[in-house]
Amino acid sequence: VKFEDLNLHPAILKALRDENYTHPTAIQAEAIPFILKREDVLGSAQTGTGKTAAFAIPIIQHAMQDIDGQRGRRKMLALIVTPTRELAIQIGESFKTYGKYTKLRSAVIFGGVPQGPQVRTLRQGVDVLIATPGRLLDLKEQGIISFRDIKYFVLDEADRMLDMGFIHDIKKLLVMLPQERQSLFFSATMPPKILKLSQQILVKPQKVTV
Ligand code: AMP
Repeated sequence: VKFEDLNLHPAILKALRDENYTHPTAIQAEAIPFILKREDVLGSAQTGTGKTAAFAIPIIQHAMQDIDGQRGRRKMLALIVTPTRELAIQIGESFKTYGKYTKLRSAVIFGGVPQGPQVRTLRQGVDVLIATPGRLLDLKEQGIISFRDIKYFVLDEADRMLDMGFIHDIKKLLVMLPQERQSLFFSATMPPKILKLSQQILVKPQKVTV
């Protein structure tokens, strides 16, 4: 298959052409059609397989449609949670790259830096937020972020999340998210604890393995 066969919006296809991406990777070819059909996805994939674009591209496509019908203030439609600031920055760059011909606004937040600039960005309104767990909960507890409008939720690198001791933060986060949402769950490995966590997040997930 080619990207052109995946029913993507011309603005996304144009951005992909700029990157010289013609063919989806295996995880992209498998996951993108399910995500476009609004199914939950349980993906086992390592970094380097193209998994970031596998979730970013269809989320951009959904959010483009959502903001088209939206008047007035921007709503935070998509939340991507990832364990490290490096991953958050990379994912943020992917959203900027694949969404460059759209009106979507994305932002990245992570800990270890002053919150002021992040808060100012959030106040300007973002459609897609990429975050590490600690700073996300911190800003939520301060009332700076609302999860009310989230329709798309991604938990990235779930096994690393567990290794880094973020499981409690994730569980805390889950109860704050709207019940009605599309969830995508990615992990390089699927030990029992991760599978159990995935069952708390996903509804009838399509399983994608590369
Ligand atoms: P990831 O697994 O998401 O970290 O992506 C690994 C690398 O593959 C990144 O540098 C991407 O820019 C690149 N990449 C992702 N999708 C494609 C594609 N369909 N064709 C070529 N390169 C890609």
